[in-house]
Amino acid sequence: MYDALTAQYTFGCPVRGSAAVPLSSFRRLERLPGTSHPVVYRVAFNCTCGDEHLGLVGHDDLDWAPLGLAGMAFANLMTARMENADAEFGDAAARRIGAGEWPWSFFCYPEQRPRPVFPSAFFLLAPGGRGDVVGLAVRCPACGSVSVNLVSEQHVDVPFHNDGEVGVVEHVFAADALRTIEQFRAELYSADFDGRRLLL
Ligand SMILES: [Zn+2]
Ligand SMILES: [Zn+2]
Repeated sequence: MYDALTAQYTFGCPVRGSAAVPLSSFRRLERLPGTSHPVVYRVAFNCTCGDEHLGLVGHDDLDWAPLGLAGMAFANLMTARMENADAEFGDAAARRIGAGEWPWSFFCYPEQRPRPVFPSAFFLLAPGGRGDVVGLAVRCPACGSVSVNLVSEQHVDVPFHNDGEVGVVEHVFAADALRTIEQFRAELYSADFDGRRLLL
């Protein structure tokens, strides 16, 4: 499913049989109702064949596999600490998290501060219209509000690569404001972005 060497997820493709795509090719993530052990996400992704398809990703694959930590530890985003870490905690990624580095982060506009996050908090992604820039809608794990950031592809695809500065849409979104990828794209192309430093 997730290949740590290429940092790509493999999904079925009706044209090519299967396709491997990075996280930045995801377009929409949606928690599948009724799933809990594990939670499963329905993902719309931009396929290498040029079409958009749906695939399923388990929570472990989404948040932990990129860190080589699937199922080993549990991060408390409210306290920004690893908890219940077991004997496998000696892993390099876990040590970096323990030292205060976060694999993913974003700027929470309502709180006016950067926050650590995991990919399962991303719910809409779209090309940002210039260069390798990706528009990212995130549901803040701390305050529950929605923020839209403009980041590099590496910021999304490479754990522990955090852009020094990200674009932030200066707008407080209603909880249900960004329902579709079309609404999100329209917002991305019309919004003004303000650069914010991402030092956690
Ligand atoms: Zn395809
Ligand atoms: Zn927040």
